[in-house]
Amino acid sequence: MRPRHRDGRHGRPQRRHDRAHAQADALAQRHGRVWLFDLDNTLHDASHAVFGQLGPAMTDYIVRHVGLDEPAAAALRTHYWRRYGVTMLGLVRHHGVDASHFLEETHRLPGLEARLRMHGPDRAVLRHLPGRRYILTNAPRAYAMRVLRALRMDHLFDGLVSIDEMAMFGSHRPKPDARMLRHLAAALKVPASRCVLVEDTLDHQRSARSIGMRTVWMTGYARQAARAAGQRPRWPMPAYVCARINRIQQLRALGVTV
Ligand SMILES: [Mg+2]
Repeated sequence: MRPRHRDGRHGRPQRRHDRAHAQADALAQRHGRVWLFDLDNTLHDASHAVFGQLGPAMTDYIVRHVGLDEPAAAALRTHYWRRYGVTMLGLVRHHGVDASHFLEETHRLPGLEARLRMHGPDRAVLRHLPGRRYILTNAPRAYAMRVLRALRMDHLFDGLVSIDEMAMFGSHRPKPDARMLRHLAAALKVPASRCVLVEDTLDHQRSARSIGMRTVWMTGYARQAARAAGQRPRWPMPAYVCARINRIQQLRALGVTV
């Protein structure tokens, strides 16, 4: 698994490749921090724009391709999501579903761009955050690029690691797979302790912390969704979370301490 750069190219002629590596090394020395940003409900309000369509699309896919009725398909989707962190993994392992086909079919999301929203000042904060910045998402690459472009954030990151790239030895290893996270840090040429995972999903934070990464728990969009649903959940901070934020904007203050 290697992080792919925004233009999707893996390799370049050797000299340019070496130069790029030298620049990356120099950057890593100067700004030791490597920021790993989750996408959905971390950088934008996915509860509002995506999840309402994505869940039913996955259930519908299971109905058509696994042959269950709708309630059983919905239950299976939730079961695999809880067990594996991503529904796709359960469908691939237990039903022989083709991962690419599943991801493409379920992420069509018509009208997505019109529903996307984020906190405006976050862009400027991201742009000036010292260190390298990567997107690390369990979503497919085409979807992630679509979201980043529509929100005018695609130029703010040094690379994108999507579920398409999170594979080792022929198996999908999305978050929270600790070995995948360790390999990613190695590919980025930094010790795990220099990486900061900014993320709304606690399971992913726990795994990142277990291999020595720093962790920032972004709760803002999930809180908004809970409030909209009339819920008032408590948000106790687990020991493996280094810092908690409600807005990406707050990273500016945390930049030197996490
Ligand atoms: Mg998320």
